[in-house]
Amino acid sequence: MKHIDIAEILRDKERIGTEAVVCGWVRTFRDSAAVAFLELADGTSFSRLQVVVDKSAVALDPECTKCGASVCVKGDVVKAFRGEGSELNAKEVRLLGKCPGDYPIQKKRTSLEFLRTIPHLRLRTNMFTAVFRVRSVAAQAIHKYFHDRRYYYINTPLITASDCEGAGEMFRVTTQPWNAKYESEAAYYKDDFFSQKAGLSVSGQLEGEVAATALGRIYTFGPSFRAENSNTTRHLAEFWHVEPEIAFAELPDVMEIAEDMIKTVIRTVMDECSEEMDFFERFVESGLKAKLSNVVESDFGVLEYTDAIELLKKADVSFQYPVAWGCDLQTEHEKYITEHVFKKPVFVINYPKEIKSFYMKQNADGKTVAATDLLVPGIGEIIGGSEREADPDKLLAAMKARGMDLASYKQYIDLRTFGTVPHGGFGLGFERFVMYVTGMENIRDVTLFPRSVNNIM
Ligand code: ATP
Ligand code: MN
Repeated sequence: MKHIDIAEILRDKERIGTEAVVCGWVRTFRDSAAVAFLELADGTSFSRLQVVVDKSAVALDPECTKCGASVCVKGDVVKAFRGEGSELNAKEVRLLGKCPGDYPIQKKRTSLEFLRTIPHLRLRTNMFTAVFRVRSVAAQAIHKYFHDRRYYYINTPLITASDCEGAGEMFRVTTQPWNAKYESEAAYYKDDFFSQKAGLSVSGQLEGEVAATALGRIYTFGPSFRAENSNTTRHLAEFWHVEPEIAFAELPDVMEIAEDMIKTVIRTVMDECSEEMDFFERFVESGLKAKLSNVVESDFGVLEYTDAIELLKKADVSFQYPVAWGCDLQTEHEKYITEHVFKKPVFVINYPKEIKSFYMKQNADGKTVAATDLLVPGIGEIIGGSEREADPDKLLAAMKARGMDLASYKQYIDLRTFGTVPHGGFGLGFERFVMYVTGMENIRDVTLFPRSVNNIM
């Protein structure tokens, strides 16, 4: 259908005085004796187009006035009666699709909980079109960030045989149901599609390291899967993961890249999505824009894990989980640090080796590894990263100490055997980032069809 985007009509002043055809969904309808007003949205812009219908000149099918109906309008673009923009004086209003009165998206605001029960329709609200426009702009900005800095975009496998990090969190991939004829688990997997146990990848990092130790700088941007049993507002079973991996990089380099990337992408979103950001500021998180400007302009905090523990011990709040050196930081701890102490993003660095992965670079103190988590107010962790252990002997020792099966990590160990280099990287949870820039508080509201425990609509 030949038609013009609503965004184009609203933006392009030169169209005033010309004829245009637009298509869209009716968002609101107002009527008076002589004229009727339809507000149309077509997804191309946050603002809607006002269509003015002179009832004495144009036949208006009542079906075209129902909220949610789809229509095609031919008319003249004119300067808006009020304000700066343009509007359309209709010459013809044609119905494309009726929308009966039980359409669940009505003008009055409905709760996010209710909207989660209709994931196929909730996108038609201002809130969700705004979230998904921001999500798209942020994704493009991430690709551009890395492309501009000569990182290669790598696609790592989603089906994997290694279950390094997420033993308990891995979804299995299989073509055969459990069958009592197998006398052991091994015999069962032997008969399966890959002749061994396979699962959905929890991270592309190990393969990312393969690429980085040849191409230098790479990143992945794809889905990761975790059978997280935690029913929180920050976890999904399927989420999008941005994982750069950089050769010849040490922990401070990794942190510098993470900070620069976050700031650059936030700047792009604020520039390109100003209407959406105004909306989030008004209806989702008051102070959001000042928060993000502040993030872009100031340095992120840096805090040693050991100092974090001291700080938490002295805090005059009672945490649900007790704090002692060696414990993993819980969300309540992370939030306290970033929301109450730093009031901005903060990198916690050098965690005890026992609570982090085998592949992280062992520090000279013999107790900690060169790991970092980036914590932000409102969410907690949005990035987990580290320098990787480049010394083959130290890597092997860490794997043995964890009782890992060395044979199944031969490829990974080979990267250290043959021309090992210092390298590191991080993983950003893309949905958590979108939550942070939009102010949305539940990860289920920044993804199209969220998958989580007991939920696959
Ligand atoms: P958390 O402690 O919050 O469960 P994690 O330490 O298990 O996260 P990492 O393995 O470090 O997470 O993964 C890197 C990043 O991926 C995290 O910082 C987070 O932003 C994101 N992430 C991890 N698990 C999930 C999930 N289930 N849903 C959405 N994002 C996730
Ligand atoms: Mn982590």
